[in-house]
Amino acid sequence: MARTPIIIGNWKMHMLVGEALELARSVRNVLGGISGVEAGVAPPLTALHAVAKQEHDSKLIVAAQNCHFEAQGAFTGEVSVKMIADTGASHVIVGHSERRQIFGESDELVGKKVTAVLAGGLTPVLCIGETLAQREAKQTFDVVARQLQRGLAGVSANNAKRVIVAYEPVWAIGTGKVATTAQAQEVHAFLRGQLGEHYDAGVADAVRIQYGGSVKPDNVKGLMAQPDIDGALVGGASLNAESFVAILKYRQ
Ligand code: PEP
Repeated sequence: MARTPIIIGNWKMHMLVGEALELARSVRNVLGGISGVEAGVAPPLTALHAVAKQEHDSKLIVAAQNCHFEAQGAFTGEVSVKMIADTGASHVIVGHSERRQIFGESDELVGKKVTAVLAGGLTPVLCIGETLAQREAKQTFDVVARQLQRGLAGVSANNAKRVIVAYEPVWAIGTGKVATTAQAQEVHAFLRGQLGEHYDAGVADAVRIQYGGSVKPDNVKGLMAQPDIDGALVGGASLNAESFVAILKYRQ
């Protein structure tokens, strides 16, 4: 099965509403000239509604960066999947390493969020990846297998096909140290194998696995040429229209 690549810019805690609208507009304006790749942006929560509304009729995907797993209730400061859907956003990044490391999100919590996003009819982008210490201790495959399994706990095969997995080695995020194409492909192929074992070949074939970690215009082509890399989750280089658009145009 041919998987359509998907590249999403994660703006993290950057961009006021006006800046977010302008950046989204700049990205959207070039999409007509780019075929065969889905493009998305994940603005901060304060700009989510404005960007989703602006991009309502465009091809640009709008994603939230996080959510709570409960539908509603006394969870001060949290936002439910239904509230995110209400803004017009269609995707939700779940389990980003910054959420796991700085805010203490466990594999189990991340799994509950994935389930909630799917139940709410949105698309989860499940982030997984090992730290430098784990890679050096040769635990990479154990770590990502556990994160994948727990992140998809209780998810049916049909729903698993809707999930986007983002493999993001923590040591490559925001550090300028990109994984080599061989390192990334090795883990992506392993993850696809895991999906085949836990589900079936149909799921393994359907699930898109993005790479994330210092993706830039000058390294995206080599990464995207790998058979099991189906897109990218881009942090720093997505904050600037020129570099993000150059990444989206990796084929040209
Ligand atoms: C990210 O935060 O998901 C990320 C990959 O960041 P960067 O591209 O800046 O490494």
